Amino acid sequence: MKQLQNFIDGAFRGSDKTFDKRSPVTNKVVAKVAEASRADVDAAVSAAKRALTGPWGRMTLAQRTELLDALAKEMMRRFDDFVATEAEDTGMPGHISKHVFVPRGAANFQVFADVVKNVPTEFFEMVTPDGKGAINYGVRRPVGVVGIVCPWNAPLLLMTWKVAPALACGNTVVVKPSEETPQTALLLAEVMNAVGIPPGVYNVVNGFGPDSTGEFLTTHPDVDAITFTGETRTGAAIMKAAATGARPVSLEMGGKNAGIIFADCNLDATIEGVLRSCFGNTGQVCLGTERLFVERPLFDKFVATFKAAAEKLKLGTPEDDHATMGPLISQEHRQKVLSYYAKAVEEGATVVTGGGVPDMPAELAEGAWVQPTIWTGLPDTAAVVTEEIFGPCCHISPFDTEEEVIRRANNTRYGLSSSIWTNDLARAHRVAAAIEAGIVWVNAWFLRDLRTAFGGSKQSGIGREGGVHSLEFYTELKNVCIKL
Ligand code: NAD
Repeated sequence: MKQLQNFIDGAFRGSDKTFDKRSPVTNKVVAKVAEASRADVDAAVSAAKRALTGPWGRMTLAQRTELLDALAKEMMRRFDDFVATEAEDTGMPGHISKHVFVPRGAANFQVFADVVKNVPTEFFEMVTPDGKGAINYGVRRPVGVVGIVCPWNAPLLLMTWKVAPALACGNTVVVKPSEETPQTALLLAEVMNAVGIPPGVYNVVNGFGPDSTGEFLTTHPDVDAITFTGETRTGAAIMKAAATGARPVSLEMGGKNAGIIFADCNLDATIEGVLRSCFGNTGQVCLGTERLFVERPLFDKFVATFKAAAEKLKLGTPEDDHATMGPLISQEHRQKVLSYYAKAVEEGATVVTGGGVPDMPAELAEGAWVQPTIWTGLPDTAAVVTEEIFGPCCHISPFDTEEEVIRRANNTRYGLSSSIWTNDLARAHRVAAAIEAGIVWVNAWFLRDLRTAFGGSKQSGIGREGGVHSLEFYTELKNVCIKL
């Protein structure tokens, strides 16, 4: 049985209390994880604070970014370890961790090393009454100790999405991975030590949210800024914690994203893209699509073709090269998703496919498996059409006009992403402009240059990260004004 520890001040440390990490595939306990106490969190934050003025704080930008480049290379050298660890934590099919999540984890360090090297500074000359003038220039300084609270759905990618810009900007971090996925953050700790990131710069504390590690971290007075990815409800609790001491927050939260399919779309490409957006990573993607709107002339054909495609998905373990869908993260999450499957039927949905639990071989029977599920026939007010389920399911509804679909797609408290499928360029621009979301795709999904802004509008997020936008959160911009 693996014993997973916390990582504080450059060393792995146990704790008096442990909790079980179970496999999503079999529900067997695969590791005992040290739960960080308030004292452990305090030690991690203190180490991070000290590190700000140690060798890390004295490094030049070039030295710091060289270390981040080395980090990315070392992650790729340990590629197989990251893939195996991510697989054990999440149960996701190997192709997702191999082709998307692990490479993106390493790429995050390279991208942000490049961003900080190339960011321009502002400079203004001004006139003064004595005619001699003054100059102003902006200098970016690290914010300090950044608390990073992570979800379980893409653990390495989403954690490095925050750690990389934080370190690139010269901050130090204390990371709280999800209790469901503690492993890749600890593997990254080994990589940090291997490339010589000084002790205290990167710390990992494991545990839960309320009354546990998450709360201890977000309420700690020496944490200077808090960045979070997870549910909207949790984000609101974290915002409240950050209010003590008036600390800045960056929140990436839930979604109930719409896919809008016009009759003139390229049907094959649309089916392929929408299938990924609904069922990729077993529907556990914040950007995933749980509400589909299809223009009426295409509706019946779309539903039939989409059903056939969904029924070809193959459930399997990370080791199964033919698997296209894994289990959900946990039994608890499975109960939540299955409760929505039941609610859809209670509310009068037509179950196009799925709706239950698949037959799995005996050795996987205890895993968190559910069937990919498609519903039609519900009003826009139904629970499964309004609430984020975070499972492999979607509701498909017909629409008649562009104005109608825009209104219905925007009829949600969330505003994370949307995808539009059409070959009419002018319409694509019009609809993209009208959709209330942080990102809108046209004939694509989950595609983004990492230099662009990322975040949600409405209750899907506060702030933008990505490229230079991350610098707004991870640095303080100071103006120096010199009288000539
Ligand atoms: P969650 O909110 O339950 O947990 C996220 C993290 O917060 C975990 O580490 C948890 O332990 C911690 N936490 C919980 N309560 C806390 C508290 N009171 N104080 C401090 N920490 C606390 O989310 P989840 O179930 O892990 O992830 C799924 C959710 O994340 C979905 O809603 C999904 O849409 C969202 N998500 C959003 C994005 C995005 O970029 N917008 C990306 C991925 C996931």
